[in-house]
Amino acid sequence: MPKILEVQHLRKSFGGVRAVDDVSFDLSAGRLLAMIGPNGAGKSTCFNLINGQLKPDSGRVRILGRTSNGCKPREVWKMGVGRTFQITATFASMTVLENVQMVKLSHHGRTRSLTRRMQRMYVEESMELLELVGIKAQWNRPAGVLAYGDLKRVELAMALANNPRLLLMDEPTAGMGAMERTHLMQLTADIVRSRDIAVLFTEHDMDVVFTHADEIIVLNRGSLVARGAPDQVRANRQVQEIYLGTEEAARLQKNGSEAHD
Ligand code: ADP
Ligand code: MG
Repeated sequence: MPKILEVQHLRKSFGGVRAVDDVSFDLSAGRLLAMIGPNGAGKSTCFNLINGQLKPDSGRVRILGRTSNGCKPREVWKMGVGRTFQITATFASMTVLENVQMVKLSHHGRTRSLTRRMQRMYVEESMELLELVGIKAQWNRPAGVLAYGDLKRVELAMALANNPRLLLMDEPTAGMGAMERTHLMQLTADIVRSRDIAVLFTEHDMDVVFTHADEIIVLNRGSLVARGAPDQVRANRQVQEIYLGTEEAARLQKNGSEAHD
């Protein structure tokens, strides 16, 4: 299977804090890889090293076989990396359709302001994306009036608008209710598997992680401490110790017992 993402001996410190400490992993097309670990483990830093927002102190990131070290976020995006944001990044006053059109325009190197002429561009493919994420009926509403869960769907459509080969999702379901969370992740999983897109995501909800991830990597204090299929990670003593006494520990147990029923 071709490697979409290769992370090799990645390091990043902030002052004396080793936020990411010699992390290596890779990811193939059509796979969902969850990155978990307690708060401060280095997950977001790792994401920002991959998406170009931060430069590594050392190590290498390769996307589709090309080294992306030193590339700016926009260049990384152009290499075929889509991302959703922890904070909703839609333009509230524009319509749902226009938000997706904007990404399409930007991808094709056009200006980011939406003139009258541009309002007629990329309509069809943008509407297709809205249909895909189940929000087509609301295409003409200002994004700002949408329910939170629907806005997350618009963001997913926007993340898919540059036809990414790799999707980076840092806490994509933050702030959502349990039901919505499950729906959004199921939708995401169906879409990426059918399009052979590789996904790296972080998620606090262990139910979501264990239901949807093909594979899990665990960070703790900047280091990668475990990697494997959900069952392997769940059974890993070190992982259990990291989560001991936290709310997630119960989820690890619960998911484990369900799997063995
Ligand atoms: P996570 O996303 O797993 O919660 P982060 O990657 O946000 O973890 O943080 C990892 C560590 O790096 C933490 O100790 C955090 O305080 C530190 N850190 C992250 N970003 C910065 C920054 N911009 N400046 C200083 N320290 C940072
Ligand atoms: Mg984080």
